[in-house]
Amino acid sequence: MLCCCVVVLLCDLFVCFFVCFVREFFQALTMNEYSFINDDKPLLPLYWLAIRLTSVNAYIYEFLDKLFKKIYTKKERMWKMLLKSRKESENLLLYRSLFLRMSLCEKDVSHYQRLEKGYAGELLFDQYVSSLTNEFLLLNDVLLDFGNNLFQMDSLAIFQESVLLFEIKNFEGDFIVRGDRWYTLSDKEIKNPLEQLQRSESLLRRFLQEHGCMLPIEPFLVFVNPEFTLYQAPMKTPIIYPTQIQRLLRTLANKPTKTTHLHEKMANKLLTHHLSTSPIIRKPDYSYEILQKGIYCSHCYTFFKEATETRLVCSCGTIESIDDAIVRSVHEFMLLFPDRLVTTNGIYEWCGGVVKSRRLIRRVLLQNFKRYGNKRSTYFSGS
Ligand SMILES: [Zn+2]
Repeated sequence: MLCCCVVVLLCDLFVCFFVCFVREFFQALTMNEYSFINDDKPLLPLYWLAIRLTSVNAYIYEFLDKLFKKIYTKKERMWKMLLKSRKESENLLLYRSLFLRMSLCEKDVSHYQRLEKGYAGELLFDQYVSSLTNEFLLLNDVLLDFGNNLFQMDSLAIFQESVLLFEIKNFEGDFIVRGDRWYTLSDKEIKNPLEQLQRSESLLRRFLQEHGCMLPIEPFLVFVNPEFTLYQAPMKTPIIYPTQIQRLLRTLANKPTKTTHLHEKMANKLLTHHLSTSPIIRKPDYSYEILQKGIYCSHCYTFFKEATETRLVCSCGTIESIDDAIVRSVHEFMLLFPDRLVTTNGIYEWCGGVVKSRRLIRRVLLQNFKRYGNKRSTYFSGS
């Protein structure tokens, strides 16, 4: 009798397991639009049979149902992946910090403003792309070195049949093209962005070929600012004007998307060769002594006046935990002064007295950075 019960229970379990598996497997495949499922549905009779045969124990069924859902949802998510998100470049962070802490010359200020504007344009483009729901691999802000040629790509979208390379520009105002040269309306020549795109495209193609990828590259020069106008532009260029962005998105939404592990492999190749720190070509002159000390709000960039034991509150409404603010300040200090040691006293001074307790700074340093040296001369490092 007992044996019979055990056998029945085991059979029941097996059927539940089988039904859940077939169902979730079937759904996962359908979601991914595998053609053999869409064309003739060979698994359907099997699925129907499994449903009919089952005498379901509700609890077990529910448990297994959840389990398989979890497994397959994870798998499904893998297909729509943002493999590399965008963050501010070290160059931008350095100029921003110096802009807020000292007075820069006019040339450096306009360079800084260009960096901020460029980054804002890239974020705007990211917003457009995030509205797409189809499957492709997306890598933002990739910096590669191919044969001693550094090249940076604002966005790369890997689709089933091609790699899309986006150079994003947040130009504002009127520009004019004469031959191969670009000018502002006041006749000041600017760097030709099409040449920049062609260079990146050529280097990327060579990089991909060297790593065994023969997918064609589709380059786009995207102007995101609605205030941008270009006169005398040649017709056959990969330029996307602000008024054409929606059309571009519709085209992307209709692209064939069935990325495989080969596409993922290629994306991983790009990621492993990405240089995380870009060389900062020109730095303004600055020294520790002339910089304003303190912690500024990460939203409106005004300096905090005071802090509580746990947080900093800005008049703009931004609230930041004291730990996060100290960690942010330490990273800023390291970026500006890579040769200086990070010590508790040093960071206390760098925070400009906003954080009243040295002990608090020491705790945050101990928790977030690697400690070196002995008790008398302790210093910290990010790695
Ligand atoms: Zn603020």
